[in-house]
Amino acid sequence: MSYKGSLRRMERVSNFLLVIVALSLGGFLSALGNKMLGDFDRLWKSPDSDSFQNKPALLALENQESALERRIGDLDAQEEAFRRSLNVVQRQSAREKQSFNDWIQARAAVGSGEDDAKVRERARALDDFRKAEDGWRTKMEGIETAKQPFLKKQSELSAEKERLEQEAEKNFSRAQKIYALKVFFARLGFVGPLLGLGIFLFVKARKSRFWPLAWGYILFSLYAFFVGLVPYLPSFGGYIRLAVGALLSFLAGYYLIKQLGRYLDRKRAELQASTQERAKTIKEETAFRAYKSHACPSCEKDFLLNKWSPGVRQAVEVRSVDDAPDFCAHCGLTLFGKCAACGRRNFLHFPFCSACGKTLQV
Ligand SMILES: [Zn+2]
Ligand SMILES: [Zn+2]
Repeated sequence: MSYKGSLRRMERVSNFLLVIVALSLGGFLSALGNKMLGDFDRLWKSPDSDSFQNKPALLALENQESALERRIGDLDAQEEAFRRSLNVVQRQSAREKQSFNDWIQARAAVGSGEDDAKVRERARALDDFRKAEDGWRTKMEGIETAKQPFLKKQSELSAEKERLEQEAEKNFSRAQKIYALKVFFARLGFVGPLLGLGIFLFVKARKSRFWPLAWGYILFSLYAFFVGLVPYLPSFGGYIRLAVGALLSFLAGYYLIKQLGRYLDRKRAELQASTQERAKTIKEETAFRAYKSHACPSCEKDFLLNKWSPGVRQAVEVRSVDDAPDFCAHCGLTLFGKCAACGRRNFLHFPFCSACGKTLQV
């Protein structure tokens, strides 16, 4: 069978497929979570502005108002009738006055000095018209006076109605706020534990055999908490968002600093162990990576950079692994040595001798 590189290709393909599995698991779970988050506001009935109105009181007010309107309308109709009568009388009076003036002028031109009785009679008739006008005016004023208490009552009623409506509006907006908060906490109660499980899986299972499933879930829980929940955050003038942001940055910083500290502590403890003990803990994978980048597999410093040559009393740059020192100049770890079976020089952290295939031992 000729070499096809099938093992490595298989590894690469399966890793690629597993990443796709992780991403699609995360995607489907996120879509599902979004749908569920969206449905949370159906848990409770959202407040309805109508139900906050004091309906019986408003109805009573409206009944009183319409009764008042009817009364006022009746009075207006009466007033209008009086006004029409007044207009008729005014027109008659103007005509009569014109005719009286014309008559007086004609009489003066003709120069007849008698008939004073007739003048007085016509003047009295004019006077009667004026009295009739005054009579209608008085009646109209009477109506206006009678209307006043009704108008006052009407404005009182509309003020009362407005007060009731404002009160209902206030109660409604308070109920809306409480509702939004309740739904938000329900959503938080749903997403919080999901995120908790995500963090648990990140800590415990992110490198396990089932890492694609763990990562799919971790992605989902991060998405649900940081993206899915955001549109439902009550704003309260932005306070909650900013506070959540600050808290999360703090937690992330704390976690990173702690991880870094732990890593450094582990490295320091490792370096304190004897070189032989350290050599035993170096894994094959680390050994290959270290050899390729000519770094000491324990302290991770470059072993090629300088080689102390007592003959020339100076540090010279070494470019080839063949010239590399047998021990790490920084931590003393054994790097190169002879194979116990065939004596060929080897990087001793490799599992097998490159010349005879026997197991290498540091
Ligand atoms: Zn070293
Ligand atoms: Zn050998």
